[in-house]
Amino acid sequence: MSRSYAVDCLLEPIFWFVDNFAGSLGKVFVFCVTVLTSSVVAIAYWIGLPYWWHRNPYLTVFLVIFGNWLLLNIVFHYYMAVTTPPGHPPNGAMLVEAAGICKKCISPKPPRTHHCSVCDKCILAMDHHCPWLNNCVGFFNARYFYLYMAYMVAGVTFIIVFGIDIGYVVIWINDPDAATLKDDPELIGHPLRMNQSGVLVPVKDILEYDSENFPREHILPTPLITEAQLISADPWKRKAVFFVAVACIAVFIALGGLVVMHTKNIGRGETSIEYHINTTMRKQNSNFRNPYNLGKKKNWRKFLGLTQGRTFIRHVLFPSRHAPTGTGLTWHATGDLEDWP
Ligand SMILES: [Zn+2]
Ligand SMILES: [Zn+2]
Repeated sequence: MSRSYAVDCLLEPIFWFVDNFAGSLGKVFVFCVTVLTSSVVAIAYWIGLPYWWHRNPYLTVFLVIFGNWLLLNIVFHYYMAVTTPPGHPPNGAMLVEAAGICKKCISPKPPRTHHCSVCDKCILAMDHHCPWLNNCVGFFNARYFYLYMAYMVAGVTFIIVFGIDIGYVVIWINDPDAATLKDDPELIGHPLRMNQSGVLVPVKDILEYDSENFPREHILPTPLITEAQLISADPWKRKAVFFVAVACIAVFIALGGLVVMHTKNIGRGETSIEYHINTTMRKQNSNFRNPYNLGKKKNWRKFLGLTQGRTFIRHVLFPSRHAPTGTGLTWHATGDLEDWP
């Protein structure tokens, strides 16, 4: 007793903090996401663009177009996920279907609706409250939330794949003598060799030395690495590359895991909350079937709103503001969707 009382007392300030500041904390989180994303994009243009332009201008044109397509989708879906209300039961209106009464709102709840204690409202098809969006994820913004995560994972993968050469030189080779390269325009555009003491020297100087002292394995393969070495030589660029590497790997791990989890849930026609409820139900009763599971293909089409002639190419690969199929109030979905091909 005394122990749990002590724990309660210790947690009291945390509960108080969450109750009072969850709203403003959410705004701080959204601000952080915006600043971090903008910084990574700015660094990609500052360091990555000239690097690739020097390497292969044709590929660079493609990378700029492809990268901006990802960026457009990231910005659009994030903005929409933050600003689209997740959906609430209508005030005072009669519900066709009700799954019970919300004790907090003291009003009937449509099926799949749950009460969010942060928003202090009932949320249609509630998935979870997301502080990074400062919004609940529910019926009307779940698609934006999911596609934001998917495009964000694609975006950081893009940066990791096309930045790995720079990251490798800056982070792994991490040659302290590279700092001596700075402000030496003689070196720009020249291939470099690293001697046995790890000092970088331009090839034209090395050729004047005894080549015995510079074994072949210490010859850096192409002038392209020279670009990365010169990036590594600039302390501000080094810091920027470290920052991008840490940010992208962290986002890749965190959001990558969430995307996998949500992809499985969407395929089964479950929200995150229902995943927990249904897992318990399945343990208790092996015959339990999720009543909202329409089969994988229809679950996905319903989730992405690919009905009424909408297509994957136009409505998923490019920003689209179409509303989800249905109202979020009634879920006798199998019947609603019988006319689907
Ligand atoms: Zn409620
Ligand atoms: Zn909420």
